[in-house]
Amino acid sequence: MIVVLLGAPGSGKGTQAKRVAERYGLTHLSTGDIFRAEMAAKTPVGLKAETYVKSGQLVPDSIVTEMVAGRMDPAGKYLLDGFPRNLEQARSFAADLALLKMTVDLVIYLNLSEAEVIKRLSSRRGCGKCGEVYNLQSLPPKVSGKCDKCGEAVVQREDDTEATVRRRLLVFKDLTEPLVAYYKAEQLVQEVSAEGPIDGVAKDVCAVIDGHLAECKKK
Ligand code: AMP
Repeated sequence: MIVVLLGAPGSGKGTQAKRVAERYGLTHLSTGDIFRAEMAAKTPVGLKAETYVKSGQLVPDSIVTEMVAGRMDPAGKYLLDGFPRNLEQARSFAADLALLKMTVDLVIYLNLSEAEVIKRLSSRRGCGKCGEVYNLQSLPPKVSGKCDKCGEAVVQREDDTEATVRRRLLVFKDLTEPLVAYYKAEQLVQEVSAEGPIDGVAKDVCAVIDGHLAECKKK
């Protein structure tokens, strides 16, 4: 099974993906997390990706698609967060999956207004070490500036500054949002409002997946 989580930056894809992946035993693949880890380890992929990630632009498709296809196992179950990010990636991913006799089964679109995206991203913080995500307004660390899980410093992502957030939003509107129509044409899209609190959104996302699994059982 392959589930794709689509949504603007800040719509909660990462937060929801972690919960949902654990609940359904799916492998969570976040291309953003992979790039950040590769950048921290200064690997060749990390060095290639760095300028794009820091300035809020998309990393070239060839780097991303190869990275994701290389992680696919026909026996695996995946939750994709942040990939595909444009039509080219979606098309070449479909071709890579076809070779493995796999397909995308479900696309969940986390819908969030632009005003809320900007509000959330400007107050988002993350642990520089373990990657745990916080929000100064809705989910602050228990001790200010320190990660609840590992005690390391909680910092703002370099690409969460206002100018870069605006660029990422433009990239989303121009390149990623058209994927909703692309996957709608394949009747794979279920929309969930991401406006509410984390638990409520998680409940709605799980209801969509349960509905999908029930449909699969009927077939
Ligand atoms: P995210 O954590 O998903 O917001 O991703 C952070 C950054 O990583 C993006 O702004 C891009 O620079 C890069 N990135 C993540 N996923 C992709 C992708 N599928 N294609 C191209 N660039 C990506």
